[in-house]
Amino acid sequence: MQDKLTKLTIVVPCYNEEEVLTSTIDQLSGVLKKLIKADLISIGSMLLFVDDGSKDDTWQIISKASTTNSYVTGLKLARNVGHQTALLAGLEIASKHSDCVISIDADLQDDINVIPEFIQKHYEGNDIVFGVRQGRETDTFFKRTTAQGYYRIMNKLGIPLVYNHADYRLMSKRALIELIRYQEEKMFLRGIIPLIGLKTTEVYYDRKERIAGETKYPLKKMLSFALDGITSFTVAPIRLITYLGFLVFFISAVAGSYAIFQKLIGNANEGWTSLMISIWLIGGLQLMGIGIIGEYIGRVFIETKKRPKYAVDVDLYSKKYPFHYLRP
Ligand code: UDP
Ligand code: MG
Repeated sequence: MQDKLTKLTIVVPCYNEEEVLTSTIDQLSGVLKKLIKADLISIGSMLLFVDDGSKDDTWQIISKASTTNSYVTGLKLARNVGHQTALLAGLEIASKHSDCVISIDADLQDDINVIPEFIQKHYEGNDIVFGVRQGRETDTFFKRTTAQGYYRIMNKLGIPLVYNHADYRLMSKRALIELIRYQEEKMFLRGIIPLIGLKTTEVYYDRKERIAGETKYPLKKMLSFALDGITSFTVAPIRLITYLGFLVFFISAVAGSYAIFQKLIGNANEGWTSLMISIWLIGGLQLMGIGIIGEYIGRVFIETKKRPKYAVDVDLYSKKYPFHYLRP
């Protein structure tokens, strides 16, 4: 047994998850019960379900469960803010009353059987434990290959993503406090958390199929998530455009000299082909350049506003943990 048991909160962002939620609540409560019984975590460990502005009965299920199941508590956001921000809302509030937090998706595609291993690694002194998928057999071929390509590009750009890690991880209170100091509007958690540093390790598991309901990440959202990841971490694409500009300038200089030379020796042709090609090429390059610069200007625009990232509608967590409950 440990000298001092850690108080755990499991944070679960939920958006229209009525189909899976009841079973998720049962399974996660089972895990907590077992861990508490085995003296691995302290009494007062909790499940925190964050309802990210669901349109179905997700919140009704959470609030009802919070009256019948002593482990369950919930946070209802005022509107849908997206997975990453909903998760952050949960982490921020959970960090106030727990020693460590595990985040997991509501569909439990990530194997809950490795939670004891997370806790063990935490006791061994790790502030951050990443859950890493061993295989991607349950993903479609498309998702698998695009994801692999993405990790490769991000690593090339110097963004240290943990390969095959989504948002299944444990963080200590200390790591959470550091995380909350990052005040970016769009928090790309998978990129930011490895930046924190502190002692870190990994736990491996097999990812399962979604048991019910649909993925909340259709292609369009996935693309925008991927782009956010790049633009919030690096200006490499702008640099690339600059290099490309130099290159095109050099090529034009060579081609131009050649054309003038041909003209001088009386070999000039109609010039239609080269004209068309250069107009299209330069036009295309410029558009691309403007687009990429626009991405960053857009980001600066969003970041300078410093708007609050979410609003809380109902907070059952703080009710279960009133202020005086805080440890000295
Ligand atoms: N989610 C959320 N807000 C959203 C979209 C998704 O809180 O706007 C939650 C969702 O309920 C789930 C998690 O984010 O718990 C991951 O979504 P999903 O399982 O659909 O993604 P996938 O596993 O397909 O990548
Ligand atoms: Mg999922």
